[in-house]
Amino acid sequence: MTDTIFALSSGHGRAGVAVVRISGLAAGVVLDQMAAPRPRPRFAAFRRIKHPTTGELIDHALALWFAGPKSETGEDMAELQVHGGRAVVQAVLEAIGKIEGCRLAEPGEFARRAFENGKLDLTGVEGLADLIDAETAAQRRQALRQTDGALGHLYAGWRQRLIATTALMEAAIDFSDESDVTSEAVGKARTEAEALQAEIVRHLDDGHRGQVIREGFRVVLAGPPNVGKSSLLNALARRDVAIVSEEAGTTRDVIEVRLDLEGLPIVVSDTAGIREAAGKVEQEGIRRTLGRARDADLVLWMVDATNLDAPAPAQLDVRAERMLVVVNKFDLLDTKVMQPLPDGAIAVSALTGFGLDRLTLRLAGFARARIGTQAEEAPVLTQARHRQQLERCRAALASFLGSPMEEFELRAEDLRRAAQALGRITGAVGVEDVLGEIFGRFCVGK
Ligand code: GDP
Repeated sequence: MTDTIFALSSGHGRAGVAVVRISGLAAGVVLDQMAAPRPRPRFAAFRRIKHPTTGELIDHALALWFAGPKSETGEDMAELQVHGGRAVVQAVLEAIGKIEGCRLAEPGEFARRAFENGKLDLTGVEGLADLIDAETAAQRRQALRQTDGALGHLYAGWRQRLIATTALMEAAIDFSDESDVTSEAVGKARTEAEALQAEIVRHLDDGHRGQVIREGFRVVLAGPPNVGKSSLLNALARRDVAIVSEEAGTTRDVIEVRLDLEGLPIVVSDTAGIREAAGKVEQEGIRRTLGRARDADLVLWMVDATNLDAPAPAQLDVRAERMLVVVNKFDLLDTKVMQPLPDGAIAVSALTGFGLDRLTLRLAGFARARIGTQAEEAPVLTQARHRQQLERCRAALASFLGSPMEEFELRAEDLRRAAQALGRITGAVGVEDVLGEIFGRFCVGK
């Protein structure tokens, strides 16, 4: 028998309301002992929360009861919405722990049970984690769609078609002495494999849009020392489009500011440490800057308005359409004797804030061009993990279509491999190795 798990599912710290969830066979017992009588399934009821052994009144709360399998985890579940004070939450959690078979949940354990009980496939679980992490509207929309199963259905549908196609090849093997049956089965299998291959290639060939939405459109600030890169980053961080969240305990040589520009996630980063010391460290810093610039969706090449002659170095191997020249310290210029700005450049002053609105608008424009509008049709690829398996699937299909069909057994095996790769995305087959990583992304209570 599995344990009944419980956890604080709302945020930690003082709050108006805190939500404690309980999942497993003893969830009903928790309600019977602490919030009796058990509420009608799926209806909230006002209850006095009592300690299960001492009977002491702990809080007044709303209690809910979800009889399995009609619950998020598929098990019996209870939910207590208590007052969000630390002492209240602690007392409630301690009290539940006194009930036999109940223990605190591990991170991601609710989602894991939902997966194991078939409530969510793996893409849904990943969508849920993304939804919890979502910071902008585009991320929320994409994650919600994935949680709803749009992506899972797409992959599961392709897998079903591959399994049916494999059956055709198996028929060809079974009836290999009846040439008309065989050639018909093989012909159908080929047609279906070609159609699937085309759909998968189209899905893969999306310019990594979904991944850019998940991870943010990456903008790297680059330029000579002292042009004002850090100042610009700080100025951006103070604007109300910036999402500044501290990640405790991480030492990073890259400073990032995340922006929410019209719902699109944009991550602007500045590489620090370049000038900390001469020699090795400096070279390493420059190497990293160049590396980040290569991977970036857009490079902001910054120059000083009083020294417009600093061209982007040749090592900065970035094509023009991925580069925006930003002329900083515009406040220092005497506008009467102004040099013309480089083509397409944008003038700003990190010091006075001049031009920053226009700069963020331009950034949003670049991001929109890259990500596209999301009102669209088919769900997009969102994760490197999925891409890897889809590439495997595509390779297996290419092997199927590119090899002698008479080798029925081998061709059936190609299709089986293709189906298996898709099964690994949704979690239908052999995924033990990735589960820890996927569920580890959640915090306790999710
Ligand atoms: P970085 O080396 O490119 O990161 O440059 P910093 O942000 O450290 O700035 C270098 C110097 O330029 C600092 O003294 C800043 O105060 C100054 N600075 C940065 N932006 C501006 C600006 O827009 N106008 C003026 N007048 N000074 C600026």
